[in-house]
Amino acid sequence: MKYRIGRVLISEGQLREKVKELGAQIREDYKGEKVIFVCVLKGAVIFFADLLREMGPEVDAQFDFLAISSYGASTVSSGIVKIQEDLSTDIHGENVIIVEDILDTGLSLSYISKLLRERAPKSLEICVLLDKEERRTQPVNVKYTGFKIPDEFVIGYGLDYAGHFRHLPSVHIAEPAE
Ligand code: 5GP
Ligand code: MG
Ligand code: MG
Repeated sequence: MKYRIGRVLISEGQLREKVKELGAQIREDYKGEKVIFVCVLKGAVIFFADLLREMGPEVDAQFDFLAISSYGASTVSSGIVKIQEDLSTDIHGENVIIVEDILDTGLSLSYISKLLRERAPKSLEICVLLDKEERRTQPVNVKYTGFKIPDEFVIGYGLDYAGHFRHLPSVHIAEPAE
């Protein structure tokens, strides 16, 4: 394996606190409304499950899932985004929030939001846990952001290196293994 688990960048406690904060904002914004939350597989799964539990009875929340391919087994983007698994819900006329683990170049999210916008939802917003702002090449309009992070390859809390490390409860820097 080329990478190993390096130092903690964001701890379990910091993640929990931020998820509560984001959850409270979304709950307030969509009180009394129906929202279809779209989890971008697989990286966003853990964040998604934690975030959705913050909605409470005030929001009529529904789940759906979207799988795209971007990185493969590398840490650099192939530059090509492809839908592997589409939504099973018709989002026409619905409030939709896309939930993603990390925003890097913006290629994935700009592709996904364009695709979903074509289906004429009532509203479409994006919630990302992590944002590597300085890496952006495609503009993306994000309403809910967890943490701005430096340009480091991170793992844990859903994020993988070649399928490994998603289960770690904190976000770590991936360290090159000699
Ligand atoms: P973008 O399309 O914005 O360049 O990249 C977004 C996708 O790249 C994320 O959903 C994630 O799968 C992957 N990615 C970008 N940066 C990282 C990182 O630091 N760690 C991991 N594990 N994946 C990343
Ligand atoms: Mg992702
Ligand atoms: Mg990945």
